[in-house]
Amino acid sequence: MTSPSPRPIAAIRLDGGRLCLDFVNTIHDRFAAGPEDYLATPERYVEWARRTGALGSDEDVAPPGSGEARLMKDVRTLRDALFRVLAASIDGHPLPADALRVANAWLLEARKDQALGPDGQLVQSGPRGDARRPLKCIALDLVDTLEAARAGRLKLKHCANQTSCGWLFADTTKNGKRRWCAMQTCGTLSKMATQRERSQA
Ligand SMILES: [Zn+2]
Repeated sequence: MTSPSPRPIAAIRLDGGRLCLDFVNTIHDRFAAGPEDYLATPERYVEWARRTGALGSDEDVAPPGSGEARLMKDVRTLRDALFRVLAASIDGHPLPADALRVANAWLLEARKDQALGPDGQLVQSGPRGDARRPLKCIALDLVDTLEAARAGRLKLKHCANQTSCGWLFADTTKNGKRRWCAMQTCGTLSKMATQRERSQA
């Protein structure tokens, strides 16, 4: 799944509009024959987490060392589960039980790090340097995102480029008619395809 020259994390598109959606969108293109995994290594995962704010810019993460394979398995398992939960929610299907189990396990881990502060506010603390902190933030963001969708503050959608892209996004436009993960990528591809069909006809 690793591309021969992985694109820099700084160049990765964050079109989902929510942390949990951008996490799911770290596979490009999801439905392509040889998809690129943006988070192919622990270093890239940490860099991505910093870029998206799931990890503080000043927050160091202990190198996973021998736990590297386990960490990356956790990343991939949660990402797959979240894709299935969000896709089911978009399609109006019941959320798959096995994917929910994974999401709920991370939610529980996230809740363990929550405490009421002296000012009466809920704070997310947890051990410093915890490499799994971004996964916990993502699980919490999933709850917020589903709640926002239920409340009508955003619309969860599949990118209309279903032949390859497979990205998900939060449509917050007033008319709720956004179709593409991004106009500059899938929107343009679709326009070009339509023009080609027209000129061939
Ligand atoms: Zn797309």
